[in-house]
Order: sequence, then structure tokens, then C-alpha cells
Amino acid sequence: MEVELTAPNGKKWTQPLGLFINNEFVKSSNGQTLASINPTTEEEICSVFAATAEDVDAAVAAARKAFKDSSWKSLSGTERGALMTRLADLVAENAETLATIECLDNGKPYAIALAENVPDVVGVLKYYAGYADKNFGQVIDVGPDKLAYTVKEPLGVCGQIIPWNYPLDMAAWKLGPALCCGNTVVLKLAEQTPLSVLYMAKLIKEAGFPPGVVNIINGYGREAGAALVEHPHVDKIAFTGSTATGKQIMKMASATMKNITLETGGKSPLIIFDDADLDLAVKWSHTGIMSNMGQICTATSRIMVHEKVYDEFVKRFKAKVQEISVVGDPFEEATYQGPQVTKAQYDQVLSFIASGKEEGATLAMGGEPAPHKGKGFFIAPTVFTDVKPTMKIFREEIFGPCVAVVAFKTEDEAVQMANDTTYGLGSAVFTKDLVRAHRVARDIEAGMVWINSSNDSDFRVPFGGVKQSGIGRELGEAGLASYSNVKSIHVNMAA
Ligand code: NAD
Repeated sequence: MEVELTAPNGKKWTQPLGLFINNEFVKSSNGQTLASINPTTEEEICSVFAATAEDVDAAVAAARKAFKDSSWKSLSGTERGALMTRLADLVAENAETLATIECLDNGKPYAIALAENVPDVVGVLKYYAGYADKNFGQVIDVGPDKLAYTVKEPLGVCGQIIPWNYPLDMAAWKLGPALCCGNTVVLKLAEQTPLSVLYMAKLIKEAGFPPGVVNIINGYGREAGAALVEHPHVDKIAFTGSTATGKQIMKMASATMKNITLETGGKSPLIIFDDADLDLAVKWSHTGIMSNMGQICTATSRIMVHEKVYDEFVKRFKAKVQEISVVGDPFEEATYQGPQVTKAQYDQVLSFIASGKEEGATLAMGGEPAPHKGKGFFIAPTVFTDVKPTMKIFREEIFGPCVAVVAFKTEDEAVQMANDTTYGLGSAVFTKDLVRAHRVARDIEAGMVWINSSNDSDFRVPFGGVKQSGIGRELGEAGLASYSNVKSIHVNMAA
């Protein structure tokens, strides 16, 4: 049920391969497995067991039993918080192993996984650990003869489904608030990247969580994911992934009218006015689309530049991409951009690039697989200019290191173009005009706005989208609302 692995950086660890149910790693009911592929070498790292509907049933039963069991139910918020803090400490102690696994399985640069992703997990878990004994109801004044108060109750069993682009972070964003509020969980990992969170499952047991409180399963979306969404004993579904799957989940969840939160796709705009600090705009435009191989739901993938500074921006932006976006082996220290996560994603990004060329956009740089030694799903950072708002590369989510740059003349035109999308996740505006910055922030249809920045994310600040980018919020205090019922209690104190 486990295998000894060694990564190219020399790190060795024991990798669990089973489904984590009731604090034990078990085989799938019919023995089926799925292979995890190293996107840098295209070789199989190992195979993990893949859950069937029967296994999902077992995980849900374990979570349901744990939800009612006094070993979890009777814990005070303070005690739940202490368990979560212990888990956060164990994640910190295992930072190098977790970053290594993420690098191997996902292709994320090791240095970035270590400096950003693992600390985010620690931060999120500690943040919600702190809330576990500070999240309660209200006493509401309804006159002298009545007492009215509310209590926040956990929802029950939460089914959580995560994508492959940030496996560890996504797991923490889901587990943190759910456990804080006293729920139990069945977390389904993305089939492309199961390894890092499976390793974290070992730490969950070590931290002392009672069996069944957190169950972690690998499996395919259409099989294990669908079984979780449709399960009658699951009280809530929290999903992060594509908008298309989010819509399917809404339909499937309607049969049992489940509470759902969705974090889905985006095509986030970044607007640069002619008074902007252009170097600052260039720096963040680069981070906003080229970090994490462009595999970011909030990627600012549509850059809109005032016509007066358009040519200068494009010149400096290309130079910045050239300077920073070093493509290569994610274990190499100099690497900024590793491979795309899978062959399917690699093919998808290349097909978007082909459509940009066919539709007549100007290919300013990249536009092909990146030159590299041997195999791997590497794509050259790609910049299209002279893009028309009707083009596919301007309208659809590419999820790769490929950006569309367009010019605008007026603020109204920029805002109209920014909002002309079915998505509404992130957005960014660059200007030195304080009033304009806040006016555009008000007028943009998005869940998040960055002023003179792009893609800031902080576990203390709510994260989520409007329109077809999602329902509900994660992170911050707002993230707690998705994991409790508010029960109102009326007491009659009169005769
Ligand atoms: P995906 O929707 O294909 O898969 C996401 C998860 O859903 C996986 O675990 C998958 O197994 C599962 N799934 C797939 N079909 C399912 C079904 N029918 N029923 C239940 N579960 C199912 O998305 P992906 O390709 O893995 O991820 C990329 C997408 O995720 C992008 O569109 C991106 O924008 C989005 N994303 C959004 C956010 C956000 O917070 N808004 C964050 C990260 C990624």
C-alpha cells in the first residue's frame, strides 16, 4: 500500500498509494488504480488506488459515523483548533518532502512549492484553527418577554473535490474551514496529481484526528467525483475546477438539494491606463499570467493597455518574459516555468495558440513547445498582440502561459471590454489616479480586484467569483459561512 520513492533532488520518502478511509490506507474495492505521471519526464511515478462508487460509499459512511462520534462531536472548538494547529506544524516539519512531491507530480518548480505553496497550507490551517473557538452565534434583542439566539452548527459530511493546479493549497483551503466548523470530510483529489495530499493524509493521522473525520480518496471525476456529489448522505459539496464540471455538479447535486460552493474558471482582465507606473504594470502582468505555468484560475490572461502606452508596454513586457520565464526542469533552482501538468493540458494550450495564429492575432513571442532536453510538456511563454475581443484566445480560458494583449482608448471602453465575458473571477487595474482606480474597481464585474498588482492571494481575504466563475467564497471569515448552518432558537419567557 506504499512505495519508496526518490526524487531527482535526492529526497526519499514513503508514498502512500491507498484510499485514506478511517485513518487507514486501503485498496479500491475492485483493485483499480490510476497512474500518476511525471510531467517533466512523461514517466509513470507510481499508481494509486482509484475509488469506485462502493469506495465512495465506504468513505462517506466513515465520515458520517465520525460526525456522530463523541471523539469528534464532543470536542470543543479549542480542541479542534489544537488538532488543526498540530497538523499545520507537521506540514511545516515535512515542508521539503511535500514540496518535492508537488514538484514531481505536478511540475511546479520546487523552490516555489517550498517558498509559497507549503507555507500557504500552514497559514490556512493555522488561520482556521484560530477561528475554531471564535465562530459562534448571536443573541438577538426581540423584546423583554422573548429570548432569541442563534447557534452555528456544522453541516455534517462535506464532499470536497479539488483540481490539479494547486493540490496542497486547494486541499488546505477546503479542509481548513470545514474542520474548523466541526464537519467531517471526504476529499477527492484530482486524478492527475494525487500524491502530495495523500502524503498529507499520513500527517492527518499523526496529528491525532479521530478516524473518519478526514477521508481522502483518489479517483476519476466521472466515477468517484460523481458518486460523491450524488451520495444521499453527503450534506455539502465544495468544488474547485472547470466551469463545465461545476455546471454538471449543480445538476447532480439538485437531486438531493445539497448545499454547494463552486470555484470555477476565469478570463480575468488586467487594465493598464496611460498614467500607470509601467514597470510595475509589466512586473505584475508577468506574474499574473506566467506564474504556475499559467495554470491559475485567476490568471490575468487578458491584458488591456491604453493605446498611448501600448507599444512601450509590449516592448517591456516581452523583455520581462524573456528575463524571468526561464523554462526547464522544475527541480532546477533557476527554473521559473516547469511543464504543463499533463499531455492533455499541453495539447489544449497548443491548440489555443494555433487558433490565435489562425484568427490573425500577432504572435509577439513563443507560440510553440519550449526547447528542452528530452521529454516533458514544456511550452514557450506566449504573447499575442493585436488581439480582437472576438477571438477565441481573448474569450476562452487557456490555462497556460499564453496571454492576449489588446489596446483601448477610453475608460468606458476598457471596463466594457473587461466585463464582456461570462466569467467574473479576478481583475486588475493599473493607474496612479486614486479615484479612477476605485471607480474601475466598483464597475468591474469580478469577485476580486487588484489595484496596481495582480493575483495577490491571502488566506485572510475572501476568494471567489461572480457570474460563471463560482458560487460562494473561500478563505477569510467569509469562508466560514459555507460550512455552518445557522440555527435560530426562540425562547418564550412570558406567560
Ligand atoms: P475539472 O473540472 O476537470 O476537474 C476538477 C475536479 O473535478 C477533479 O477532481 C475531477 O476529478 C473532478 N470532476 C471532473 N468531472 C466530475 C464530475 N462529473 N463529477 C464530479 N467531479 C468531477 O477541472 P481541471 O481541469 O482539473 O482544473 C482546471 C480548471 O479548474 C480550470 O478551468 C480552472 O479555472 C479551474 N480552477 C478554478 C479555481 C477557482 O478557485 N476558481 C481554482 C483552480 C482551478
